[in-house]
Amino acid sequence: MIYRTLGKTELDVSILGFGASPLGHEFGTIDEAEGTRAVHLAIDMGINYFDVSPYYGRTLAEERLGTALKGKRQQILLATKTGRYDTDRFDFSAEGVVTSLEESLKRLKTDYLDVFQAHDIEFGNKAQIIGETVPALLRLKEQGKVRFVGVTGYPLGLLKEVAESTGIDMLLSYCRYNLMDTALAQVLMPALRRRGIGLVNASPLHMRVLTVKGAPEWHPAPEAVLEAGSRAADWCTRRGADISQLALQFALNYPPAATTLVGMSKVPHVERNVQAVGTRPDPELLRGVQEIIKPVANTCWVMGRPEHSDPGAVPARA
Ligand code: NAD
Repeated sequence: MIYRTLGKTELDVSILGFGASPLGHEFGTIDEAEGTRAVHLAIDMGINYFDVSPYYGRTLAEERLGTALKGKRQQILLATKTGRYDTDRFDFSAEGVVTSLEESLKRLKTDYLDVFQAHDIEFGNKAQIIGETVPALLRLKEQGKVRFVGVTGYPLGLLKEVAESTGIDMLLSYCRYNLMDTALAQVLMPALRRRGIGLVNASPLHMRVLTVKGAPEWHPAPEAVLEAGSRAADWCTRRGADISQLALQFALNYPPAATTLVGMSKVPHVERNVQAVGTRPDPELLRGVQEIIKPVANTCWVMGRPEHSDPGAVPARA
């Protein structure tokens, strides 16, 4: 495993991080025992950053991760979130942040968090996120209940604004630096670098678009993006290659991201994904896939409040 420091925090995180949303059935039903084995194998293979949220499986993912981490909590860095509880249930209030932490700690069977984040801030009111939610997170940090704090979300412009106007330690961006979209590098990264904010890059497989199986039903990307992903996957398969491996190699070879979070709940996925660490994409394969993706590259969609969308965002499909 390779480790990088997350911004100005002293956290040395594995460059491949464990995204626990699949433990809450976000990508389909999974076998709980297999999910637990995946968590244990990931730890054995040196993965030390685990990301979850009360939203994933409406608390199921936190419960399961907490159970799987029994006796192993000290070996890993644990990040969860606050503010999002269902597809349309949000609470970014200061009281909500405090209550949410207590509930998450119980489910995760621990008494502290390494990272606590406001989840999907594009669904909230920007003034509240900056003036109330982040200050509440920072108070919890001062009280020693959480070690570091941050925000997560999709629109890069909003993330940049919040990064520039608050004292967050880290930021999680998803689907904005991978084979399908690299806008993060130009739009967000310079601001994070200037302020020493650590970057967690999530969804290197573009939430399963860059897999042989293809996107889940609920995927928000427009049809053309899903079709390009499917063509690229077939093209790789015909060459005896795996699109997911290539996609992961591409994302892992972006040093500004301290860690890249892949959603995992299966032992073979953990094994495969760890194999990508320290390797580079085959240049010919990469060129071919980028050619297929080119017509839809950097397509972004409307997510959350329309006023928070990035310029050129298209309506979400689902
Ligand atoms: P992803 O791009 O990591 O894709 C995950 C899907 O790919 C799952 O269905 C998984 O089973 C499958 N997969 C994993 N490895 C594979 C392999 N080697 N071959 C084929 N399929 C494979 O998307 P994601 O799970 O949404 O993102 C990763 C994590 O980042 C999440 O679990 C979550 O922890 C975090 N995240 C956070 C936010 C947020 O805070 N707003 C948003 C998105 C993701």
